[in-house]
Amino acid sequence: MTQHTMGNTPDQPFPDDWSQAVFTQGLQLIAEGVTELVGFGVACISVVRNNQLEVVAVAADDEVREALKGTSTSIETLLAELEHADHWGLMRFVPHERLGENIQATGWVPDIEPLDVPDAWHPLDLLIAPLHSSTGELLGTLAIDLPIDGKRPGPEQRRMLEKYAAQTGRAVVTALERQRLAEQMRLATTARAIVRGASAQLSLDSLLASVQSALTEGFGAAGVWIQTFDDGGGTSNVYGGEGTGLTMPPELVTIAEGAAEMCWREQRCVVVDVLDDDANAQLGRDERRRIVEFLEEIDISSMLFAPLGAGTECLGNLVLTRSAAQRDWTEVELSAALDIGHDLGRAILNARTFEREHELVQELRALDNYKSQLIATVSHELKNPLTSIMGHLEMLESVPDLSGITLSSLAAMDRAAQRLTRVINDLLLLSAVDDPNNPIDPVPVDVHAVLEEVLDVNAVSAQRKSLTIRVETPDEPVVALGDREELDRVCANLLSNAIKYTPEFKTVTVRLAADGDCVVLSCTDEGIGISESDQEQLFREFFRSTNPEAVAQPGTGLGLAIVKRIVERHGGHIDVESDLGKGSTFTVTLPAAPETSAA
Ligand code: ADP
Repeated sequence: MTQHTMGNTPDQPFPDDWSQAVFTQGLQLIAEGVTELVGFGVACISVVRNNQLEVVAVAADDEVREALKGTSTSIETLLAELEHADHWGLMRFVPHERLGENIQATGWVPDIEPLDVPDAWHPLDLLIAPLHSSTGELLGTLAIDLPIDGKRPGPEQRRMLEKYAAQTGRAVVTALERQRLAEQMRLATTARAIVRGASAQLSLDSLLASVQSALTEGFGAAGVWIQTFDDGGGTSNVYGGEGTGLTMPPELVTIAEGAAEMCWREQRCVVVDVLDDDANAQLGRDERRRIVEFLEEIDISSMLFAPLGAGTECLGNLVLTRSAAQRDWTEVELSAALDIGHDLGRAILNARTFEREHELVQELRALDNYKSQLIATVSHELKNPLTSIMGHLEMLESVPDLSGITLSSLAAMDRAAQRLTRVINDLLLLSAVDDPNNPIDPVPVDVHAVLEEVLDVNAVSAQRKSLTIRVETPDEPVVALGDREELDRVCANLLSNAIKYTPEFKTVTVRLAADGDCVVLSCTDEGIGISESDQEQLFREFFRSTNPEAVAQPGTGLGLAIVKRIVERHGGHIDVESDLGKGSTFTVTLPAAPETSAA
């Protein structure tokens, strides 16, 4: 047997897992079957890995096994040798006499003296079965040596060998397929872990940091470098350098950017390998040279470029490296890297959307703040001159002997000034209850007592419309936690609205109850009701109904906006149920005070 050792014996030729153990054990049994049943001293099974035939099972004595296990032969050298072979079914036999001068047997050669017979076995004889997949791809070889009888095999032995070669071929195909599946699963698990980790992270920085170790482990890589592009195509984020095993010089960053765009367009990864220039063919010559120089500088043997993207957009770059001691990139790994590029691309888009939304929310908050400040400032500025107008109006009204026209003009001015005062007061209150820097100082408040006062104040207007006000409250205090004045405002607004928007002779019912941790106040009227579309906008500032019956009543459109703000800053909520033409119920739920004492 000629064995062309390349001196390239990786520490760990296969992933050290269960499927690999089963794989080599199965092949070992077959190899032993060949030696025992067909009568040879050595049977050796190799499989193709990284363009080499690597010995994975040897049946022989210990010394030979040690010499052969894990060694590699170049496929090209073997194929060159086989050009001179006799075809014995699946087996190929190359008698030593035919070995060309340019083929040198540098590997293991048995130390035997050929017998002095015409069909004697010669130590340089080669008997080997190339094992192919159903698609004709070379997957491995079964090589045999040292016939026990010292002779080249006769017809019976060849028949047996044929059987074992076929069996070995099937075993190798199945085992490699299983191994490929196992590798795919391992990488898929890594990819899933990355996406899971990434989707929980909404900032790009933490997203990239969280995927780094998963990538390094999943791909058995020496270093990882990730770059993301911003909307305009510039670099928005780079994850690399200390702790990641890879720092890219600016020149290489430019190359990587170009590679990512190209790879995403063509939906593939690119590998640059210092030893295998063919693998680099997709990149330009200068680029390859620069990358190889860099790899040699940092003592790394290969670099994988995978694009990150979503849809038609390339969103960044994933670069992984491996040192000479680590295995070469397989097709399965390249396709897994591409899949991860898709997953990360989507996660980057999510993070980007989140960041944009976050910025937008900040902007809206600033705008809202500005609006509140504007309202507060303008209201203050209007209030002073208005107070002066009101004072002067009062003075003029007290002047004796004014004509009827003057008096009615003054009365009209007074009504307008009153209305302006109401709007300004409501605006000032709205900005006060809307101001996050002006939180309430909550105390226990007996809402029952507050409600009684509000009922007293509104009794006259209810009587004017001959309304019946029904009050359903428990006898004992109902204590909420909050600000008494603000809660007064809530009760007053709901009751005055109910009275205002309810026709004569109808009933308004006010209910107050403690319900567990809550205080529930409701106000039901038999009034004009509110349409569904109006209900959606009811709590907006300055909203006044489209219903002409409602518009006919005086109002600023600020009352319910104020009520909602107050209720919410108390940690409660307000709901409305209404039927146009039949009536409405407003229900306010507030947190109850833990103790019974009340303000
Ligand atoms: P205002 O009453 O000053 O107009 P509000 O903010 O208190 O302002 O109410 C907003 C609008 O909601 C009112 O203009 C009215 O159309 C409608 N509304 C409020 N309460 C009732 C109610 N009880 N019945 C019918 N419509 C109501």
